[in-house]
Amino acid sequence: MNNYDIIIIGGGASGIMCAIKAKENNPDKSVAILEKQNRIGRKLLSTGNGRCNLYNINANNTEFYHGSFKKHLKTMFKNCSVTKIAEEFGKLGLITHSDNEGRVYPYSNHAGSVLDILRYRLAELDVNIICESAAVSVTNTDDKFTVITDKDKFSCTKLVVSTGSPASPKLGSDASGVNLLNKLGHKTLEFSPALCPLDVVDNSPVSSLKGIRQKGFASLYDGDRFIKTEIGEIQFTETSLSGICLFNLSSYVKKLTNPIISLNLNPYNENYGQLIYVLKLNAERFKNRELRTFLDGMFVNKLGINIMKSAGIKNFTRKTSTLTKPEIESICDTVYDWKFKVKKPFDFGKAQVCSGGVFGDEIDPKTMQSKLINNLYICGEAVDINGDCGGFNLNFAFASGIIAGESL
Ligand SMILES: Cc1cc2nc3c(=O)[nH]c(=O)nc-3n(C[C@H](O)[C@H](O)[C@H](O)COP(=O)(O)OP(=O)(O)OC[C@H]3O[C@@H](n4cnc5c(N)ncnc54)[C@H](O)[C@@H]3O)c2cc1C
Repeated sequence: MNNYDIIIIGGGASGIMCAIKAKENNPDKSVAILEKQNRIGRKLLSTGNGRCNLYNINANNTEFYHGSFKKHLKTMFKNCSVTKIAEEFGKLGLITHSDNEGRVYPYSNHAGSVLDILRYRLAELDVNIICESAAVSVTNTDDKFTVITDKDKFSCTKLVVSTGSPASPKLGSDASGVNLLNKLGHKTLEFSPALCPLDVVDNSPVSSLKGIRQKGFASLYDGDRFIKTEIGEIQFTETSLSGICLFNLSSYVKKLTNPIISLNLNPYNENYGQLIYVLKLNAERFKNRELRTFLDGMFVNKLGINIMKSAGIKNFTRKTSTLTKPEIESICDTVYDWKFKVKKPFDFGKAQVCSGGVFGDEIDPKTMQSKLINNLYICGEAVDINGDCGGFNLNFAFASGIIAGESL
């Protein structure tokens, strides 16, 4: 049996930060991280396309979050605001920069820099890192936890579970830690993918557009019921609509019975009248050109052709002059309101985060301690909370890790 004062199961963003704060606050106590992979922080290295968008300066606004812990965020952020996260990284020696959306990145634009400065601090503090050690069982008596891994047996007086979620399982994470908490009596909500591309039911209009990006509005509906609009860059992939704006909408889709995405790619935004005026003008000005070029002044040719196909146009070698008034109106309608039926369920492999995890009301937001079991702490994505794209998820992971670490 290996005995420690504090054991942290899961060496990801929240677990690492928690270990640092725990050991800084309790230098005489023994702290160990149990990590099932052969290294800590593997997911962190893949974040922000390898640049690591580590927090967002607007993250104190709880509107960017979803899940049963959301109502406790205000209390939690009082103890660990964005300013505090910035200060902690400052103390660790990380220089950062932010963009005009408030997204904060390391100055090196390299996720490895973030992991490195965290690893150096763990080493200075003498935190034990035990890799290739997957926790398979946790039991507790009044004053002690016993953790059995696939290789060994551990005991501790305080236990932190920071095992993340099954989003992008190829990076090693799964639901095992949350299942252990469920066995200890915690209510857990089933994980489902969030922040992921939206696969469309009939992918024929998008499959040939792979790689094309176009700015526009993406609106989510449940049948006819409007849910939310996001503006941003829409990316077409072989089977799906992707990009930050679609990622953010994906968090809402789970609850919908008939999810539909409507793209508004109108260069004049909401001004339908201007769009129809310009298209009618172009139909007249460029009447001798082949119809396949009709939208070339607005969109990449392939995108223009696919919009026209979706508008019911078939023959593209005919002259633009042959366009009828209803055909022009139908093209306009499609540019303004291009509908795609969304396929459910989503693929965990494509997701950046998950909704689900430990029910928010069972965790004290001032400490991240379980309200059911003394000396048990839960942080990061194991908690039922997920944020929008833009650094909000790592923000929560680091904030919850700091709070748990300081409370231990
Ligand atoms: C591709 C990608 C890009 C992303 N980009 C961003 C971004 O730029 N900004 C942002 O804010 N968020 C981003 N995210 C989300 C962010 O990475 C997560 O929200 C964050 O890492 C969650 O931290 P965590 O500590 O809860 O979990 P993780 O970082 O996943 O760490 C959990 C750790 O626990 C270990 N573990 C799991 N089960 C066990 C067990 N039973 N025993 C022992 N160890 C176990 C895992 O191996 C893992 O190392 C991205 C996610 C992905 C997949």
